[in-house]
Amino acid sequence: MASSFIRDRPYLSKDRIINLSLSDLIICPLCQGVLWLPEACQDCETTYCASCIKAWKIETPSEPTLCPNDGLQYIQRKCPPAINLILSKLQVICRYKPNGCSEILPYGYLETHEELCDYRLRTCSGCKAEIIKMDFNEHYSQCPLVSLTCPECNSVFQRRDQDEHTETKCLQVQLNQLRDEMRQNEQIQTAHINQLEGQINSFIEIIEQLK
Ligand SMILES: [Zn+2]
Ligand SMILES: [Zn+2]
Ligand SMILES: [Zn+2]
Ligand SMILES: [Zn+2]
Ligand SMILES: [Zn+2]
Repeated sequence: MASSFIRDRPYLSKDRIINLSLSDLIICPLCQGVLWLPEACQDCETTYCASCIKAWKIETPSEPTLCPNDGLQYIQRKCPPAINLILSKLQVICRYKPNGCSEILPYGYLETHEELCDYRLRTCSGCKAEIIKMDFNEHYSQCPLVSLTCPECNSVFQRRDQDEHTETKCLQVQLNQLRDEMRQNEQIQTAHINQLEGQINSFIEIIEQLK
């Protein structure tokens, strides 16, 4: 049998469908959810979510893959059109309803909506909090833990420390950067000179030998 991980986490749970009918035909036997991107077994015509079959192959490795329903070789075929037709009629509650989204969408438009939904969560790179997408820009532009980069000296600091990066401090950093750069240039030049000296010395040696 499939692991509890799959069974507990269908991509599309039944309780999100507001007009569920003919549910015997459109429930995936692996996740007990409504079929999502379904495919079928050529032999017994049982339909599964593509991701459930993928997880099944990983969890019960065998060569060839066996159908979870009849235990015979699983040869993938397209989901029967009748099943797709039933699915296309479903009206689905957006998965971000707990965050405030009130949209109900046709099955076929669900994925597009959920990608764009204003109520999905985004993680703030500063405080790591999960923020509802439509509030994100406002939070991000004020979060004290977000890292900022000074355009003058490229120093990185958190927004709450912005005031400590004064003009004087910035100039100091730039000065140190210039010093480092000069030191590096000096080292490169010294290395060049040493190399040239080495070449000249070997020329002199050759000339001495030719005499
Ligand atoms: Zn499934
Ligand atoms: Zn089968
Ligand atoms: Zn939504
Ligand atoms: Zn934040
Ligand atoms: Zn600076």
